[in-house]
Amino acid sequence: MTYDTTSGPSGLRRASLVVHGGRAHGQPGDPVVAPITQSVNHVQEVGTTDGLLYTRYANTPNAALLQTRLALLDGAESSLVLASGMGATACTMRALLAPGDQLVTSAWIYGGTRKLFDSELPDSGVSVVSVDPLDVHAWRAAITAHTRVVFLETPVNPTTRVIDIRPICDLAHASGAVVVVDATFASPINFRPLEQGADLVIHSATKYLNGHHDVLAGVVNGSAALVERVRQKMMIWGQVPDPLALWLLERGLKTLDVRVQRSNASALRLAEWASAHPKIARVHYPGLPSHPDHALARRVLDGFGGMLALELADGGDSSSRFLRRLRLITHATSLGGVDSLACEPRYTSHAHMTSETRAAIGIPDGFVRFSIGVEDADDLIADVAHALS
Ligand SMILES: *Cc1c(COP(=O)(O)O)cnc(C)c1O
Repeated sequence: MTYDTTSGPSGLRRASLVVHGGRAHGQPGDPVVAPITQSVNHVQEVGTTDGLLYTRYANTPNAALLQTRLALLDGAESSLVLASGMGATACTMRALLAPGDQLVTSAWIYGGTRKLFDSELPDSGVSVVSVDPLDVHAWRAAITAHTRVVFLETPVNPTTRVIDIRPICDLAHASGAVVVVDATFASPINFRPLEQGADLVIHSATKYLNGHHDVLAGVVNGSAALVERVRQKMMIWGQVPDPLALWLLERGLKTLDVRVQRSNASALRLAEWASAHPKIARVHYPGLPSHPDHALARRVLDGFGGMLALELADGGDSSSRFLRRLRLITHATSLGGVDSLACEPRYTSHAHMTSETRAAIGIPDGFVRFSIGVEDADDLIADVAHALS
């Protein structure tokens, strides 16, 4: 069996690419499922450094197949799979930033990314400036000739705000900076930042791409030149997934389109239902006309996503009781898998803030975040209804 890792089946839509992208049509006797290649090293031609395959170089068959498929999904020239979403972000920053350089970042980013930016990067001589991502003037003021990277995350956790990346990309490119977008919450089914002007897109593949709560991995997609720079850092820092993780990730990826379509539809139904419920003070979901970024979301997203948040009318006192009464939806962190999950950002991503600071950025006590999986929407609504009763 040979894998076409240079040109996937062209002209296929994403629902087909997630299953077939990067793999040649099988011949009689071939396995339907791409086999796992557990071998770390591979037989090499004598007298050349070419064609050296090694698991830590992320160029073995399982990695190559996935990377071709992931590049096609994001409309990227090149793709790299790493050991985790954090590994992807850390190696990308290592590749793009040197002492004396400046990173300008959205203030609304994943907690692990914030720690990387707040402590690790300053320790290595990089200055970091955070801005309110919805304020274009703030981006304009922050981006200078020293800015090498502009980083942002959209849709935003846990408020589901959607950021218009086009004007920010224009500002960054005018200063010669590279724009990196963490699009984990949307997946390439709902949003492709490279189409909107970004240079690199990062996914925590742990979330929607794998989708089954059982693999840790990360992805960086973009131009071949930039992705190669990240790959060099990945090899040195050893941020590489093992073959089983790659194989499982490919299996999970095959259902990405059907999973995300289901989550989009069910999250919208739950959001609409919750909007009319007297015990819900506010629903955060970009698919609702009441969401502040609804018009933008309609323009830049192909689907509104499976992430939503409900603010319980009784505030923080009622949320523990609510979470304990859920029977179908699981109280757990993380997101993007087949099981629907709920958690309170005040005890997870935003635990480092005071109640007042959280409320000021739109996350009051009683704010519950949901990651909607693939269960029946009526069952999910019944579960929330029961927990509220
Ligand atoms: C989970 C997550 C990460 C980190 O990914 P890991 O795979 O856990 O390392 C980064 N960004 C976002 C938006 C995430 O949700």
